[in-house]
Amino acid sequence: MTSDPHYLDGNALGGLLGEVFAADLTTATATCAGCGSVAPVAVMHVYVDAPGAVGRCATCGIVHVRVVQSAERTWLDLRGIRALEMPRLPPPTSPPRP
Ligand SMILES: [Zn+2]
Repeated sequence: MTSDPHYLDGNALGGLLGEVFAADLTTATATCAGCGSVAPVAVMHVYVDAPGAVGRCATCGIVHVRVVQSAERTWLDLRGIRALEMPRLPPPTSPPRP
């Protein structure tokens, strides 16, 4: 239970993060935490010969993203990205009324 009326618990982010991670992130633009370059995720240099996949900045080479998966879980490390900008998904449309 929250006693401070100025914030909610993390459950309040569920829907928002669900929208973010449902987006096509290859169309997102990443700002590098190392060199500050801004580029589409699609231009990262991706290495898949590690225990997971590693995406590196095409400009300075720092690690932007690490993704490791097991049969039951996924680990995601985005610390090399200062900001990620992506277009919002269109709102769901209601089916036409008969
Ligand atoms: Zn960089």
